[in-house]
Amino acid sequence: MNSCLDHLECTYCGARFPADALHGLCTHCQRVLYPRYDLAAAARTLTRDALARRPPGLWRYREVLPVRDPAHILSLGEGGTPLLPARRFGESLGLPNLWIKDEGQNPTGSFKARGLSAALSRAHELGVRKVALPSAGNAAAATAAYAARGGMEAFVFMPSDSPPVHKAECDLAGARLFLVNGLIHDAGAIVQRYRDRCGWFDVSTLKEPYRVEGKKTMGYELLEQMGWELPDVIVYPTGGGTGIVGMWKAFAELEALGLCDRKRPRMVSVQAAGCAPITKAFEEGKRHAEPWPSAATIAPGIRVPVAVGDYLILDAIRASGGTAISVDDRDILAAVAEVARLEGIYGSPEAGATAAACRVLARRGLVKPDERVVLLFCGSGLLHTELVRGDYPVLDPRDPKLERYFSGTRA
Ligand SMILES: *Cc1c(COP(=O)(O)O)cnc(C)c1O
Ligand SMILES: [Zn+2]
Repeated sequence: MNSCLDHLECTYCGARFPADALHGLCTHCQRVLYPRYDLAAAARTLTRDALARRPPGLWRYREVLPVRDPAHILSLGEGGTPLLPARRFGESLGLPNLWIKDEGQNPTGSFKARGLSAALSRAHELGVRKVALPSAGNAAAATAAYAARGGMEAFVFMPSDSPPVHKAECDLAGARLFLVNGLIHDAGAIVQRYRDRCGWFDVSTLKEPYRVEGKKTMGYELLEQMGWELPDVIVYPTGGGTGIVGMWKAFAELEALGLCDRKRPRMVSVQAAGCAPITKAFEEGKRHAEPWPSAATIAPGIRVPVAVGDYLILDAIRASGGTAISVDDRDILAAVAEVARLEGIYGSPEAGATAAACRVLARRGLVKPDERVVLLFCGSGLLHTELVRGDYPVLDPRDPKLERYFSGTRA
């Protein structure tokens, strides 16, 4: 059970690069590089039977992950998240086969743990000891944690209005945190400007080849968890798009490995109405998205006005027969609350966006009642308690009015 990593391939111009050197984007066209594996070799050991005997979690798919020497694996128990039936929420939409993949149960509370476990492990193996990235919060928190695990230095750049819990997470893990007046791409520009001078390895979304490998394991897990048959529809909150393109890559690999057939889920990309460059490009029939001006949404992970992998996202949506939609912040918040109330699952706002989108899909007849639909609940609502404003009675145990308060139908 070894990594079958073979080479890197540019997803745009097809150029090939050796896998055992450090790489960012393609040096010819500045687009995204994908790791490619010897899948025939991988298929000999990565079988259904073998998987049944391996422990849960991301690293059970070692053959199709990039780390060669397991001593470099930086793990905090990422992956292996539950796929939960959402019966009560599903019934409210007329979708009895609705599922929620609860990625909020990952270390640091989001699926960013998958990508950064893979990327930082591989970077560690290739000798990197200083990493930097721009982040809306979750990627920063995950980077801080995995860097600490590997004794690496992390330099993280976050929009100054990012959720306070993410700042605390970086602080706790000893990362160097910088707040930026601007959005995630402004933070990214600072990383790009100073990375060479400061000796940082840039682990921005899709600007190095291995975060996507961690995220693709969601596709591997879904196949296993659904009894070796992929769902009909996957609803994904798209920011940089690593997860949606990662799962799409996973399905092609799984078919080549002989673990699934040619049938693919329809990929539904969800963005917020206040920042929807991919939805707009999809509707206009374009392969590249224009930068979204004045991006604004309460869902930080999808407040991403520019995505280097825009063509990969749009290609995957179209090839799958899926669609791209936008939902507004009010519907996002309502959906977070509704799923929590009906299912006991606390989603982040981005997760809420998938639930709100699912309602739109059902209403427009874009999913049929018998179809199996999976919502990617990317992050935990516990990281966003600032969005919950409760109005609770405060009781004084000596107050005589207490008697009256609990005497009626109220309690
Ligand atoms: C990063 C993030 C997203 C967007 O994920 P991409 O794969 O970059 O599109 C969605 N939700 C949460 C909670 C995130 O942290
Ligand atoms: Zn290229």
